[in-house]
Amino acid sequence: RAKQDGRNNFRFFTQEMQARSGRHLELVNALRYALERDQLQVVYQPQIELQSGRVLGVEALLRWHHPEMGSVSPAEFIPVAEETGLILAIGEWVLRTAVSQIQSWHERGWNTLSVAVNLSAIQFRHTDLPGTVSQILRESRLAASFLELELTEGVAMIDPPGAIAIMNDLHQRGVRMAIDDFGTGYSSLSYLKKFKVSKLKIDQTFVRDIGSDPEDKAIISAVISMARSLGMRTIAEGVETEEQTAFLRAHQCDEVQGYFFARPLSAGQFEQFMQDHT
Ligand code: C2E
Ligand code: MG
Ligand code: MG
Ligand code: MG
Repeated sequence: RAKQDGRNNFRFFTQEMQARSGRHLELVNALRYALERDQLQVVYQPQIELQSGRVLGVEALLRWHHPEMGSVSPAEFIPVAEETGLILAIGEWVLRTAVSQIQSWHERGWNTLSVAVNLSAIQFRHTDLPGTVSQILRESRLAASFLELELTEGVAMIDPPGAIAIMNDLHQRGVRMAIDDFGTGYSSLSYLKKFKVSKLKIDQTFVRDIGSDPEDKAIISAVISMARSLGMRTIAEGVETEEQTAFLRAHQCDEVQGYFFARPLSAGQFEQFMQDHT
């Protein structure tokens, strides 16, 4: 009986594995063609300064719409893109698209907007990132100070001395850096001091339970004061309610980003949003 159960478990296990690898293979193959078949899109989520209410910039977020599979979440396809190395081409396309979009918004008169672009570990470590970034900025004639690169603590902590060297190089070129999902990874505070980072993005998991979890409140207020002492700005991610906004304002968080203010928007929707809000 135990033996039979074991066999059944094994069978279920392999069926699940097959289903997973089937989906996985489908994603690998489909992702190869996504770029050339125009299935990828960049959307832009506004980042708002709490004190002034001004839209300081946007975060560029990747979207994939496959004709049969429909929308595939970046949480699912970014890891596949990393595994296959496709993230290099895709990441460069996101950077180029976002930078040229911002430059064209500057030309329309919204000339203080900056753009934050997410970087994967592979982009950060395995290419001449500073060279590629400079090249893309030159092509669009956008000043480096309008570009911010987001990386997670995990990415920075794989090889801290290497990360410091890349960040120093980018910093010298005038590009800003932000730590994404701050508080969910483990970064050593002594390294944080050495990273050329201008902003901490407080992860949405802390923001979510502001109303009910006193520990999350304590963590957020500690992160904000630490950031301020280190000369860094803070932005809270995933802000969905008035109550969360009030707490963040009371604790002098610099910026907010979340559905309460705006969802990630297509370029056209963002232009409409700016017209309505200025
Ligand atoms: P992230 O960089 O931390 O991005 C924030 C995520 O929170 C986005 O999910 C955004 O749509 C979502 N979000 C924004 N406001 C709210 C809110 O009020 N409530 C909730 N529940 N969620 C909110 P998205 O777009 O699905 O992206 C997920 C992750 O995929 C990103 O997390 C980032 O790590 C990665 N990603 C997205 N685009 C790129 C890209 O171009 N390159 C790389 N390497 N990674 C990307
Ligand atoms: Mg991000
Ligand atoms: Mg984040
Ligand atoms: Mg995230």
